[in-house]
Formats: sequence, structure tokens, C-alpha cells
Amino acid sequence: MQYEQLIQEQRKYFQEGNTRELFFRKENLEKLKQMLIEHEQDLCRAVHNDLRKPDMEVVSSELLTVIEEIDFHLKKLYEWTKTKGARANLLSLPSKNEVRRMPYGVVLIVGAWNYPVNLLLLPLVGAISGGNCAVLKPSELAPATSALLRKLIGTTFHQKYISVVEGGVDTNQKLLDQRFDKIFFTGSTRVGKIVMEKAAKHLTPVTLELGGKSPAVVHKDADIKTAARRITWGKFMNAGQTCIAPDFVYVHKDVESELRKEIKKSIKKYYGKNPKKSKDYGRMVNQGHYDRVVNLMSGAAILSGGSKDPAERYIEPTIVGNVDWGHPVMKEEIFGPVLPVVAYGDEEKPSDNLRPMSSPLAVYIFSESEAFIEDLITNVPHGGTCINDVVMQIVNPNLPFGGSGNSGMGQYHGEYSFECFTRPHAVMHRNTWPDPSFRYPPFGKKLFLLKKLFLR
Ligand code: NAD
Repeated sequence: MQYEQLIQEQRKYFQEGNTRELFFRKENLEKLKQMLIEHEQDLCRAVHNDLRKPDMEVVSSELLTVIEEIDFHLKKLYEWTKTKGARANLLSLPSKNEVRRMPYGVVLIVGAWNYPVNLLLLPLVGAISGGNCAVLKPSELAPATSALLRKLIGTTFHQKYISVVEGGVDTNQKLLDQRFDKIFFTGSTRVGKIVMEKAAKHLTPVTLELGGKSPAVVHKDADIKTAARRITWGKFMNAGQTCIAPDFVYVHKDVESELRKEIKKSIKKYYGKNPKKSKDYGRMVNQGHYDRVVNLMSGAAILSGGSKDPAERYIEPTIVGNVDWGHPVMKEEIFGPVLPVVAYGDEEKPSDNLRPMSSPLAVYIFSESEAFIEDLITNVPHGGTCINDVVMQIVNPNLPFGGSGNSGMGQYHGEYSFECFTRPHAVMHRNTWPDPSFRYPPFGKKLFLLKKLFLR
């Protein structure tokens, strides 16, 4: 079916009011949940085919997170959709005022490949809750998952309500040429700019969930063993291909060697002597990303790991050192299992060195010092912070998730997802009386009175 026709059908379905009923929204959230529960095995297999992800990671980060989000929306949706009263001010007296949340209409959700189920369906939960129709475009770089999602969504929902369009860059560009009422995009900063440019043509609002170099800052007062365990876990899951993975470690030089030793220990504990044989360790998604990450390492000192196998797109969990801010591995988002370690001394303020980096999605701070933590939160532009841990900030639906600057715009998760897919709509009720003549011409001395009343 042509995209125009699909979007027209969805817009008609939306305009008929089908998607706005609270009952309808809840019923379809339930259907999505059932789909995930019934097809857990199929989804695990598809994601494994695409990324060699272990079932534990697929279930926890791709399926349970979406199911949790659905349950949260089912519990809160009645409250969120209620019309909220607003106070009248002096100028609007007498009146009754309210704010309603209005769905946008037909929304486009474009996903990335690294969490191919989560990144498509988690925003979909918000789109359904908001009362919208949706076109979903999975990433072509996770083809098994893309095909399965098309099949599952196709049998769970009518296409005039929710539909999957498969394809790559060309398909996405054709979709972006259409007029949608809202676009939700997850992917790289480079493509985020293309999306925004295309959306501008139709003045379509966008939410952009992009990437960046998220630092893990480890201060000298940190619990080093715990920091090492958690950084290793967050960095090497999905072979480093996680948007909020700690990209590099920025550590106080007094604890640098201890931290490196502990990270090495954790790598061995999680993935064994030979991570290539570990069932719990992933692979680079394709040859292009494999080559890109291997090239990023050139010129850096390999402090641990470093072995690779292009035939399997395998890169061992690797720690690199001897890199300054100008080295390629410190300039672009690594998005692979390579962890640079950079040290700072007492004479340096980490926030001064991190501030010029282009606004990452997250900053992780391992420290017990409130002043140290506050300085980084306040003075380094970034999307969200997690203190003494990594990645965990995304599991709480009461927290907004999103970037700032180069890492994106707009937030989602929980109520922020509902807000992301609805807009606040003002309604003022006025009686036909009283109708004092004060605002109508002729104005005469009314301006004098107006100033007297308001400019005190
Ligand atoms: P990408 O930008 O290459 O692709 C994302 C989507 O855009 C895909 O569906 C793809 O088909 C489409 N696309 C690619 N090139 C395009 C073009 N020229 N014109 C129009 N559409 C195009 O990103 P990716 O490689 O799939 O994902 C990796 C990036 O995504 C990383 O930067 C990562 O940090 C980021 N990411 C962010 C989040 C988040 O929640 N903020 C989550 C996952 C990944």
C-alpha cells in the first residue's frame, strides 16, 4: 500500500474518533501486552538472530520494560486523561477554565536497531495512551526483529490504527516526506537533523531521542569495586551498543589503576577468560560498525582485551588508555565494547573538561561528595544523571527520559510519554453576561483606568 493511502486511512480512522475513548486505549494496551507475553520466545529468537543478545537481556530490556510501562499506563491513564481545571485570573473573570490533553492524530515512530523491540514499542505505548494512530518504522539493521514485529503488529491491530512499514533509508525518507501529526525518532544525531528538516516542511512537532558520549566520572571518594562492577555491566551489555552506555571513564588519578584492575576483574567474571565463547556477550551489528569501532582504537594503548574477529564481528571487551580529548575515540560516540579511561588530577575540575563535549544523553557520577555531584549536574549540559550507578535511570517510569542539545529533544516514559503524544488544549467557558463595555471602543479614559488597575 502506498504511504499516502495508509496515512489517509489512519487519519480518517482517527477523525472518526475511534481512538480517543479511554476504554479503547486500555483495550489496545492490553492487546499489546498479550502480544509480548505470547510471543516472548519468538521475539527472543529474532533479537538473538539480529544481535546475538542473550535471552536475559532481551526479556529484561526489551520485553519487561515495555510490559512495565503498559501496566503503569493502565493504572494511571484515567487520571492523566481527566480534564484539569485551571484558575481564572482578574482579566478573565468570570469564567471557567480547563486544560484537556488532545491526541495529535497520526504519528510516525522510527526506531534504531540496538534495542529493536523496546525502541519501537515503548513509544507506541505513549501513542496508544494519548489516543493516536501510529505508523512504525523499525530499523532495517535488525531485519529478523523488523519482520517479526510487522507480522505481530499486523495480526494484533488493524492497519488503519497501527501499522508497521519495513525498509531502510529510502523508505524512511519517503515516509518523512508525508505529513504526520507528530514524529518520534530514535537514532543518531546526524539523522535526527534530517528528520527535523523534513518535519519543518509540514511544521510537524518532533521528539528526537539521539546519542552522545556519556561519561562515567569516578571520583577518589567513590566505592571503586561497586563502580567497576556497574560500569562494566552497563558498558559491555549488547557489546557496548546502548545509547546510554557509559562511553568512557573519567577517573581521579589516585584511583585510576585500582578502577582499571577492578573493571578487568569484572569483565572476566561476567564473560569468562574468553568472552568470544560466552553466551552472554554480543556482537557488532554489522561490518560497517565493526570497522568503525576497530578504527577508533587505532593509536590508543590497549590496556586490556583488544582481540577481534571480523568473520564474527566480534570485538573483545576492551579498555584503552593513552588518549587525549583530541583522539578519535574521545571525539565520537563509540557505540561498541571499547572503554577509554582518562584521568584527572586535583588541579582539574572535571566539569570544566566535560562541559565542551556536546551534551550527552547521560552523566554517571561515582562519588559521595554532594558538592562534586552538584557541580557536574549543574555545569555539564546533558539529558539525565545517575549517581553511583549507570543505565538504571531509565527503569523508573516516574522519571523523564530524553536528551538535551545534541542528544535530542523531548522526553518520554510514564506520564512524560503520555504528554509526548498529546498536547495541552485550553478551553475557556464564558457566560453571555455580564458584558461590561470596558473593553469595547470608544476607549476615552479607559486606558488611564486600566493602568491604574494593573500597573501598581
Ligand atoms: P540511525 O540514525 O542510523 O538510524 C535510525 C533510523 O533512521 C533507522 O530506522 C534508519 O532506517 C533511519 N535512517 C538512517 N539513515 C537515514 C537517512 N539518511 N534519512 C532518513 N532516515 C534514515 O541510528 P542507528 O544506527 O539505528 O542507531 C544508533 C544511534 O542511535 C546511536 O547514536 C545511539 O546513541 C542512538 N540511540 C539513541 C537512543 C535514545 O533513546 N536516545 C536509543 C538507541 C539508540
